Amino acid sequence: MPTAGLTGRPFRRAPAGPDDVGVTGLRVAVVGGGIGGATAALALRRHGVDVAVYERRDTVPPVGSGLGLAGNGYRVLADLGLGPALDATGAPISAMLLLGPDGTEIARYDTGRLLGMRRADLVRIVLDGLGTGVVHHGRECVAVDVGSDTGSDTGTDTGTDTGAGTGAGTDTGTGTTRPVVRFADGSSTEADVVVVADGLRSRVAAAVATRPPLRPSGMSALRGFIDGRGLPGHLAADQNAWLGADRHLLSYPVDQHGTVNFAAFVPRPAGSADEWSFRVDPEVVRGAFAGWDPDTAAILAQAREVYRYDLADRDPFAPWARAGVVLLGDAAHPMLPHMGQGANQAIEDGAVLAALLDEAGGPADVADRLAAYEATRRPRTDRVQGQSRRNGERFAGARHPTSGGENDDLSWVYGYDAPAAGRDAAAAFRPV
Ligand SMILES: Cc1cc2nc3c(=O)[nH]c(=O)nc-3n(C[C@H](O)[C@H](O)[C@H](O)COP(=O)(O)OP(=O)(O)OC[C@H]3O[C@@H](n4cnc5c(N)ncnc54)[C@H](O)[C@@H]3O)c2cc1C
Repeated sequence: MPTAGLTGRPFRRAPAGPDDVGVTGLRVAVVGGGIGGATAALALRRHGVDVAVYERRDTVPPVGSGLGLAGNGYRVLADLGLGPALDATGAPISAMLLLGPDGTEIARYDTGRLLGMRRADLVRIVLDGLGTGVVHHGRECVAVDVGSDTGSDTGTDTGTDTGAGTGAGTDTGTGTTRPVVRFADGSSTEADVVVVADGLRSRVAAAVATRPPLRPSGMSALRGFIDGRGLPGHLAADQNAWLGADRHLLSYPVDQHGTVNFAAFVPRPAGSADEWSFRVDPEVVRGAFAGWDPDTAAILAQAREVYRYDLADRDPFAPWARAGVVLLGDAAHPMLPHMGQGANQAIEDGAVLAALLDEAGGPADVADRLAAYEATRRPRTDRVQGQSRRNGERFAGARHPTSGGENDDLSWVYGYDAPAAGRDAAAAFRPV
């Protein structure tokens, strides 16, 4: 059975320039080409790392939902040179309005830099930055064999792809083995580091940690796009959130052609335990907000394709890294969407991980650097996970996030400079 990419030598450090792909000698396999995996791959490549992404889907899905790229996520992607593409594609959102069910304004916030985007556009922009030959679509990973991290780096070259089979990767000549990614078609590939970025329901994160079970929040998101060109201007330009006792509706623009994303958060209907993302009748969402502000009716009247997503997160867990395999994005810290931060945190992860791996010198060094990545990221993602969950509880109890003091100042979220945090973490590994 053929193997894909990433054959070759255990790595050896060489000087890296900003775009000198492959100069570190380090080879990284990324499982999952969502926003987290794609950003990590691009950041790693900019740091001179040889990287391959394995995505189970055949292509970036043309349909999908919207998301808000906040200042903290934008900073990372702009640092990677994607600012112009993002600015040319996303919809700048300057204000966020909190409204009662009848449309009464409760509060208005300055959003800072916030770009509404189609998820597929965002992922495509990042993947395009990777160029050709890096992303392998249609490659479903079914298992990851962790390596062993008992040895030190001698630079001995014995690594080869293993093909289908069992066990860990080939011995590097030091008593250590490299991790192996195994695919549904029976093929496999080795790398020095495997980044597991396959999302909330990660199939392979269990190779690294025993995770707490998924924790359903009791809410479902009903999502879709509409043509907002016929809507009053404020509906097509701002982020609006209508807040009711046990449900709320969010809308914001996602492109520069008038497309508006809506996400209705409603109590999860019974009898849906096995399903988590599927199409529903638009009448369901219209019915859920019947009698609300006429603006909500104007939005939902245009809903054609509506997808339901049952919300869940997990309690924080550790470790995120084991013997050359490391978790990133929702695979590491799945969070509820009530701070709009899941993707933004995944993007931050990639910047920090890449900065740390930039100057990695060998397997033992990689282990320390992956531990530093976790130590840098965990306190922050734990906090965002927790606050996202508490916001969800506030919504469910009709105690809206405005009434929670911890939401009054979110500069710690949006003002965070992940590239700088990565550089600081990496500096600790340099000789003084
Ligand atoms: C209703 C809702 C609204 C949200 N709004 C926002 C928002 O406004 N802002 C924000 O920052 N976040 C938001 N989020 C959260 C955000 O969607 C996630 O946190 C983010 O997508 C996580 O990125 P990821 O790359 O870690 O995982 P994913 O986006 O889930 O990507 C995982 C990728 O891995 C692939 N994959 C899965 N299994 C395998 C496998 N076995 N082999 C190979 N590939 C595999 C998948 O196909 C996918 O491409 C929202 C979430 C929801 C539910």
